[in-house]
Amino acid sequence: MKHLLKLFITSLFAIVILSGCSEGKETVSEAGEEHKDDKLQVVTTYSILYDIVKNIGGNQIEIHSLAPVGSNPHEFDPLPLDIQKTTDADVVFYNGLNLEAGNSWFEELIQTAGKNGEDGPVYRLSEGVEPKYLTSEGHEGEEDPHAWLDIRNGIKYAENARDALIEVDPANADTYEKNAKEYIEKLQKLHQEALESFNKIPKEKRFLVTSEGAFKYFSDAYKFEAGYIWEINAENQGTPQQVKQIVDLINEKEIPVLFVETSIDPRSMEMVSTETGVPIGGKLFTDSIGKPDEDGDSYINMMEWNIDVIFENLMKK
Ligand SMILES: [Zn+2]
Repeated sequence: MKHLLKLFITSLFAIVILSGCSEGKETVSEAGEEHKDDKLQVVTTYSILYDIVKNIGGNQIEIHSLAPVGSNPHEFDPLPLDIQKTTDADVVFYNGLNLEAGNSWFEELIQTAGKNGEDGPVYRLSEGVEPKYLTSEGHEGEEDPHAWLDIRNGIKYAENARDALIEVDPANADTYEKNAKEYIEKLQKLHQEALESFNKIPKEKRFLVTSEGAFKYFSDAYKFEAGYIWEINAENQGTPQQVKQIVDLINEKEIPVLFVETSIDPRSMEMVSTETGVPIGGKLFTDSIGKPDEDGDSYINMMEWNIDVIFENLMKK
């Protein structure tokens, strides 16, 4: 099946190459005219990286996110457009830490796009993050990808994006430096606000229950405990055994409120809520930002949203 799929993707790729010859290669018609193709072509694996890199690249870059807003970046099937954009990209950014590892989608994509080895450049934005590890059966020792939920790591991502953009496009170094400085200041402020808000929540109430166990880095940064139905999206989700374990934990710890993530089917958490009689307090953003002009539509907005929703729900009880 996997081979068939590969063959299918390869055929699609051939079609894209053939049909791609006539588009996207327009030349500048008048001297000095701003043109699409003058911009640095950037691809990121999912929407959170898309937003961070966009903030630093500003008007100098044209950017495409592979896993679209609202989708699950752990497992993704690239479309022909994604293959073309990745092939044409001047620079590609991914999270690493075992995020884009489900069905090896990213590894296969960069090979198909000829971005492996020296041709890159392909940058891992989590470079320099101290990894945390999964503990559930069958995943022991694997890295947990959700580093961005600790805003201090978000700052690292921003610094890495700045350095990478300067490396591939030194002519615009000043712009990238300036944008990064402003953006990082906002993130530092937000991290302080998070600490201040969460410090008001009594320690014994700082317990987060979500569908996926995405809050390891977050919990470490903001001193929470976390419970989940399944540990990572790249595994069986919501099996009877997983549901039983979390139901037992909720009853034992007398957890007052549950949360559900925007990029995950809510039915498993709804089942847990029904079985325990504990309400779902709100939605949290973990693996995706929100749709444009809706709640959480940037990395900063999604983190602000999460801080508010967690604070309001845990202070209530
Ligand atoms: Zn996840």
